[in-house]
Amino acid sequence: MKPANSIFSGLGTTIFTVMSQLAQEHGAINLGQGFPEGLEPADVIAAASRSLLTGPHQYPPMMGLPELRQAIATHDRRFQGLDVDWATEVMVTSGATEALADCLFGLIEPGDEVVLIEPLYDSYLPIVRRAGGIPKLVRLEPPNWDLPRESLAAAFSDRTKVILVNSPMNPCAKVFTEEELTFIADLVIRHDAYAICDEVYEHLVFDGRPHVSMMGLPGMRDRVARIGSAGKTFSITNWKVGYVVAAPALLAPIAKTHQFITFTTPIPLQAAVAEGLAKEEAYFAGLAKDMAARRDRLATGLGRVGFDVLDCAGTYFLTTDFRPLGFTGTDVAFCRHITIEAGVTAVPVSAFYQGSGPDHFARFCFAKMDDALDGAIERLTRHFGQKEFPRIGA
Ligand code: PMP
Ligand code: GLN
Repeated sequence: MKPANSIFSGLGTTIFTVMSQLAQEHGAINLGQGFPEGLEPADVIAAASRSLLTGPHQYPPMMGLPELRQAIATHDRRFQGLDVDWATEVMVTSGATEALADCLFGLIEPGDEVVLIEPLYDSYLPIVRRAGGIPKLVRLEPPNWDLPRESLAAAFSDRTKVILVNSPMNPCAKVFTEEELTFIADLVIRHDAYAICDEVYEHLVFDGRPHVSMMGLPGMRDRVARIGSAGKTFSITNWKVGYVVAAPALLAPIAKTHQFITFTTPIPLQAAVAEGLAKEEAYFAGLAKDMAARRDRLATGLGRVGFDVLDCAGTYFLTTDFRPLGFTGTDVAFCRHITIEAGVTAVPVSAFYQGSGPDHFARFCFAKMDDALDGAIERLTRHFGQKEFPRIGA
């Protein structure tokens, strides 16, 4: 038998699925895979049910329901001051994951260089490679995740087609400042490249910091494809409704890709997200406030257990250094260990790096109900507090 495609057949199962399965097997509290609990807006869900009952039940327009595209354009004006033409610059996708694939497949020509910033979300690299792109990886290092300006500039060349920027950033919870984004934008413009901006956590930015979209920076309006996700904005990750906003010429090849990947997204979900995006200011501010309170609850607890908890400016995630607990194995061993022995699941941060990256950090998702967060802390306290913790290796 001939082998299947080597890029995909050579991949393991995504770390999120691996850790969620392990959590289930061991009855662990799952703070691994990033999904929220208990924040689904009832009115958005009611809107989807109404639409499901009334129909229509056939294909919606390929670019997305006009009312959702209008709502996205209005949202982008409201929150980012962007002037977006809904009819030519907005496309609805089945989740940000599809939007990312559409952008990468639509823009990359085999041999093009693509600048990626580690730690990186796990879908990026396989799609870049399958599209024939040549990844140029630039690494952010814990604990500060500072932008390595020199190596970033050195990663760009005349062959650079795209840089993929994720802000707020999974897993390290960095929110890029306007100044950092301007530095990246200058490189993009200088090398006549594009930026794919994964902004799925745009409304999950804490402590009064702003979320800056690179699309609004001088000279970038026509060079940015901006990606959002209703999964994150409305705490409904199951729905898989995402979108891309880009200038017409940039959106055109992205839309050609979308038409042959999913073509459309279910009408009831699109209709409900359109209603959700029109929600009052208090909803969006409340989401960030609730999530910051969850962050603080888990961060305080993990700190008491003995973790070194890194700063978290946005997203669902806390990065923790577990070495102060006396665990000397790798992050993969640690995350398995606490799942099996303590009944709490986290995700190893090395999964977001290629090759050897930092291997003593675990990512905990705090977007959970208080009882899950408190239960996890209780279990970890019992586990690490009950004894002089044995210096377990891998
Ligand atoms: N990008 C990042 C950085 C993410 O964390 C996620 C998480 N789910 C996605 C994209 C995918 O979003 P969606 O569920 O809308 O496909
Ligand atoms: N984005 C989520 C995370 O980082 C998971 C998404 C997935 O499971 N594919 O945990």
